[in-house]
Amino acid sequence: MGPILHGLIKLQSVENRLRAAKAKLARCRRTVILQENQVRSLQNALETKKEEILLTKVQCDRMELELKSRDEEITKLRAALNTAKTNKEYAALLTQLNTSKADNSKIETQILELMKDTEADEAESKDIRQQIDEQKQTLEQTRTESDASATKHEAEIEQIQTEWDRVAKTIPDDSLEIFRRVAETYDGQAVVGVEQQEGRTPTYSCGGCFMNIAAECVNLLMTKDDIIRCPNCTRILVLSEPQV
Ligand SMILES: [Zn+2]
Repeated sequence: MGPILHGLIKLQSVENRLRAAKAKLARCRRTVILQENQVRSLQNALETKKEEILLTKVQCDRMELELKSRDEEITKLRAALNTAKTNKEYAALLTQLNTSKADNSKIETQILELMKDTEADEAESKDIRQQIDEQKQTLEQTRTESDASATKHEAEIEQIQTEWDRVAKTIPDDSLEIFRRVAETYDGQAVVGVEQQEGRTPTYSCGGCFMNIAAECVNLLMTKDDIIRCPNCTRILVLSEPQV
């Protein structure tokens, strides 16, 4: 190994720190987004309740109107009953009157049920409104905290990025391009050590995918400064620290 591979090892360690700092920034932003979503879903639930209350009110109004017109009919039937000329006519009017009264009492019961529903919905709305207020307060607090730590993380990222750029300048363009591509594929892990297994004749494996690595590759790494990639996973191989 020579300056190129050592440079890549250094770059890998800076890359790890850079990714960790970026992950911290993403996490603190995600907390805010999650809490915003909670507020939004509570607001949606409140809207749904409002619509339900409105629909029930419309239904209630319609039934009250019907009740009123039936009451008028009952008044008319009562008057007709008093002026009935025959028993038969009287009996028919009485039946009609009783049916109307029974219908009215049914409607009254339904109206009462609807009013109860509305009361329950209004109580739930009040509860949701309270939850929204509380959740908004929590959100504001989280946002303030998150803004503060985001500023800190951004400064850290900027600092590490400067270091990354500085190390990257020491590495030839083609090698750097390979590093970038492999890092993209393996979530930042581009450079891995070759691991040695003890035995009568030592065997080697890739520290990324654990597939066997030929002894010739290890010899090349010891003697040259070329990029050797794992034939299986394509990560850049380097000798682990004790062998360097
Ligand atoms: Zn591998």
